[in-house]
Amino acid sequence: MTVIGLGPMGRAMVGAFVDSGHLVTVWNRTASKAEDLVARGAVRADTVEAALAANELVVLSLTDYAAMYDLLGSATGALRGRVLVNLSSDTPQRARAAARWAAEHGAIHLAGGVLTPPSGIGQPESSTFYSGPRAAFETHRETLAVLTATDYRGEDPGLAPLYYQLTMGMFWTSMMSWLHTLAVARANGITARELLPYATSALDLRYFLEFYTDRIDADEHPADVDRLSMGVASIEHVAHTTRDSGIDPTLPETVLEIFRRGEAAGHGDRSFTSLINTFTPRP
Ligand code: NDP
Repeated sequence: MTVIGLGPMGRAMVGAFVDSGHLVTVWNRTASKAEDLVARGAVRADTVEAALAANELVVLSLTDYAAMYDLLGSATGALRGRVLVNLSSDTPQRARAAARWAAEHGAIHLAGGVLTPPSGIGQPESSTFYSGPRAAFETHRETLAVLTATDYRGEDPGLAPLYYQLTMGMFWTSMMSWLHTLAVARANGITARELLPYATSALDLRYFLEFYTDRIDADEHPADVDRLSMGVASIEHVAHTTRDSGIDPTLPETVLEIFRRGEAAGHGDRSFTSLINTFTPRP
């Protein structure tokens, strides 16, 4: 296969392919990044056209989809018959547009969403979402499984980026809540290390997710275990403690504002899960 894009992720992917005995052609805008990979057995193509011509399977690991157009936009004549497995992160709409663009040039585009840092490449417990034409995915599934376990989400090219962005939304907001908490802790003389056991416990939300999932799917929000108004009081205490610690309260105050919106909409005596409808108002 060919790998185009030798950032930390692409380099890890080339390493995993080489280690599993594959012959890998590589290309990168900054050619010097290929040197150590060539020393490990990869083959450097002289041009992006040559990289595309070398193999049917072309893995892209670029910053985003714009980089793909920058790179391949002038080499579209070499795209015919290629299967582009785009493991660059971007949005569902851009993946759908890329699938159309590739098809116009006689290529197949499979979108991916890699759920691991470069250190997880080559580890079977890591996972990557894929979407796009099933037959092309099945043809290359075994090869792609060298990188991580594969999780095929469906034919709609937007599905892999969609699932990826859904998980990234949770990842970043959770990490920000952790950082904010550490700022409040630090202002009170508590280190990240000292808080670690409590942070891991607080962010282990599995029990709550499992408890509320079916209720949310049924759009049922009984107040048998929590009341939104109780949540308002709880977040107020968090915001207050944040301000008293001299820390920017934007994060808890934003959460408080969402809770208050729910209360104003008359959901005070329902579960906090009823807030889902403040994000998606019904017509
Ligand atoms: P980087 O942004 O570090 O590397 C990007 C690669 O894209 C480099 O090879 C770079 O070339 C190339 N590139 C960027 N812009 C252009 C352009 N306009 N024209 C040509 N080449 C371009 O990303 P990573 O390697 O870290 O990640 C790759 C993808 O994987 C990203 O979409 C990222 O979101 C995703 N990902 C990354 C993770 C991580 O932890 N790193 C985790 C999960 C997903 P050059 O070397 O010349 O600059």
